[in-house]
Amino acid sequence: MDVKIARTAGFCWGVRRTVDQVMDVADHAGRPVVTLGPIIHNPQAVARMQEKGVRTVNAIAEVEAGTTVVVRTHGAVKSEMEAAKARGFEVVDGTCPYVKYPQAMAQRLSRQGYHVVIVGDANHAEVKGVISYAEGPCTVVRPGAPVPDLPDKKVAVIAQTTCIGADFERIVGALALRHKEVRAVNTICSDTEERQDDARQLAREVDAVVVVGGKNSANTRHLAEICRAIQPRTWHVETEEELRPEWFRGCGTVGISAGASTPDWVVEGVAQRLRKLA
Ligand code: SF4
Repeated sequence: MDVKIARTAGFCWGVRRTVDQVMDVADHAGRPVVTLGPIIHNPQAVARMQEKGVRTVNAIAEVEAGTTVVVRTHGAVKSEMEAAKARGFEVVDGTCPYVKYPQAMAQRLSRQGYHVVIVGDANHAEVKGVISYAEGPCTVVRPGAPVPDLPDKKVAVIAQTTCIGADFERIVGALALRHKEVRAVNTICSDTEERQDDARQLAREVDAVVVVGGKNSANTRHLAEICRAIQPRTWHVETEEELRPEWFRGCGTVGISAGASTPDWVVEGVAQRLRKLA
């Protein structure tokens, strides 16, 4: 059985940048370091940071004086950023620049009088942060959900960075038929699109796909959905320990795709175990 790893599997540029920032701060800060929420959606990477003494807090109210606060790749809600500044904490802003873009657009478009629509998951940390920057009406539409009737004439649509392009297109199209003015700003991260294209291609070429990454990672779950739609023998795992030999019975080639927050060493662990199964 051959094992084929997608070219884009593993940390994206934004995650690598933030993880490097945390490691650097942990080594040199000389004071307690916390991350505001799990730094990335990968339990194995978060555990490694905890070994370096980096704690995770859920709110600035939990942080003690003299602590360095690192903001995660998904960003933070505006009021928490303001609270950190007001309390005088040293803040290392690890928000991915591609996440800052929808934050800035939510603010700018709402100031311009648009009802802001975000295509994404309202419970995801990134989307909560983006909503907090809107200064007027803001509605989140989950991919696959019905498009709601909105009272405003001017609507602007943006997307969670990990949104699937077809979902964004569907919602923009539906709104365009109902409102006088619809402005679409594609805030999907290019890394996400490239990774999804790669996963699609991989799923067409292999007999089974293993998608590696946190079960709480939106972009990893999307990759699994994309691959499963093409190759029904698709499995989403966090580590090699979850792999079952019977999943790969009769397979000539197994493909590995991985989310943007999946460390290389976790991907490699899965590849090694698959080779052993072979
Ligand atoms: S997937 Fe894109 S938006 Fe998300 S952290 Fe990576 S580079 Fe940034």
